[in-house]
Amino acid sequence: MNESYDVVIVGAGPAGISAACILADAGIKTMVIERGEYAGSKNTSGGVLYGYNLAQILPDFVARGCPIERNIVESRIWYLSKEAGLSIGYRDSIFANERKNNVFTVGRAKFDRWFAEQAKKKGALIVASTVVVDLLKDASGKVTGVVTNRQDGEVQAKVVLLADGVNSPLAAKTGFRPELKPEHVALAVKETIELPSEVIEQRFGVSAADGVTTEVLGEVTGGMDGVSIIYTNKNSISISVGANLAQFAKTKMKPYEMLEAYKLHPMVAPLIAGGKPIEYTAHWLAEGGFYTIPQLAGNGYLIAGDSAMLFNALHREGSNLAMASGKMAAEAIIAALKKNDVSKQSLSSYSKAMSESFVLKDMNKYRGFPGFLYNTHQLFDELPHVAQFAAREMLTVDGVTKKHKQKLIMDEVKKKIGLLNLAKIAWRGWRSVK
Ligand SMILES: Cc1cc2nc3c(=O)[nH]c(=O)nc-3n(C[C@H](O)[C@H](O)[C@H](O)COP(=O)(O)OP(=O)(O)OC[C@H]3O[C@@H](n4cnc5c(N)ncnc54)[C@H](O)[C@@H]3O)c2cc1C
Repeated sequence: MNESYDVVIVGAGPAGISAACILADAGIKTMVIERGEYAGSKNTSGGVLYGYNLAQILPDFVARGCPIERNIVESRIWYLSKEAGLSIGYRDSIFANERKNNVFTVGRAKFDRWFAEQAKKKGALIVASTVVVDLLKDASGKVTGVVTNRQDGEVQAKVVLLADGVNSPLAAKTGFRPELKPEHVALAVKETIELPSEVIEQRFGVSAADGVTTEVLGEVTGGMDGVSIIYTNKNSISISVGANLAQFAKTKMKPYEMLEAYKLHPMVAPLIAGGKPIEYTAHWLAEGGFYTIPQLAGNGYLIAGDSAMLFNALHREGSNLAMASGKMAAEAIIAALKKNDVSKQSLSSYSKAMSESFVLKDMNKYRGFPGFLYNTHQLFDELPHVAQFAAREMLTVDGVTKKHKQKLIMDEVKKKIGLLNLAKIAWRGWRSVK
């Protein structure tokens, strides 16, 4: 493998492949190295992608046969106690028509493979089943290529793009990104449950092409900072639950036990009843937020996607930040190669473009949110309980006056959380996203 390329990209996820497409379009000799047997074979996500960001790379992605599972027309949010739940949702026909594919579900194994195929058609070389184990550097410390686990596995490159995902020992080892702390990562387990498409359509009230996403907060993570999702695919439902890694370590809870218990919840069980589990995966999520984003460019290298800790937990946006950062990294590389200058200063046009884009502006806006969730366990135990108590009281018709019910609810709030504490939580929550 002793070869030389303009650009070597580590990782064939959304970030790496987006960059490869843009670079190949510009006629730049690009190699993407992927450790999986094929792109997507090692990847998981809840499963939504964003049409806007994909269209920035491949405007004709639908015509190219992008493996879309379902076009999302309704987003639901649930707040669950152990045996009940509040639900709000928003369905809009605009998402079935003019804004079709604003958000859609995909299976990552299929999607990533298809996406990599498009980069290949444009001229990028995709090398699978190969692990990058180190970076090559010259005497000044400038990155000059990668070392792979293949025999004679060095590949020289003018620029290396690290797009190797959240668990990037490479970035950490080389000092480009501080070692990840457990509190900056969530561990999620996901099960895909097969069901006939008509059953999914009937249960979620959608047509054959359309689908629903459900984001779930509350008592489903045993008091830990975490979330769950339920997404509809063509012939399956993705159900995932995840929580902060440091809190998993502390509570000694087992993620798969959490998922099993969650599947029995009365809001969840009817949706998946009779389904057959066909896939089970576990993966980390980059949850540290803005303060954990590393330096994005250095001498001869850049970092994009999850590897750069780009994940907006509030809006469950990761794949779009990966694609947008991959695109901006590629554009910075093209400009740097034109100038024949791949120094940190030259490649820093990437950091500048990122700062001016929605990617870092959104990450900055929500910079307090990960800390708010991590430090507010009441969101995941006492508050869902109080919400359940209040809804139950108000919806039970038993001759008790509403004024008295209001008093009972206030008493429960005082007992479980305290009024001042509740006000503080609301204030801190608002400040973390304002
Ligand atoms: C359970 C779960 C649910 C999620 N739900 C959503 C969602 O609904 N919507 C959303 O937008 N985001 C979601 N995300 C986040 C989203 O999956 C990521 O933000 C996105 O995949 C990041 O893309 P990436 O290209 O940066 O990294 P990845 O997709 O992780 O790709 C990195 C690639 O690099 C390869 N690689 C790693 N190390 C090496 C190496 N040393 N050598 C060679 N190859 C290597 C990997 O095999 C992988 O293919 C979810 C994540 C999880 C875990």
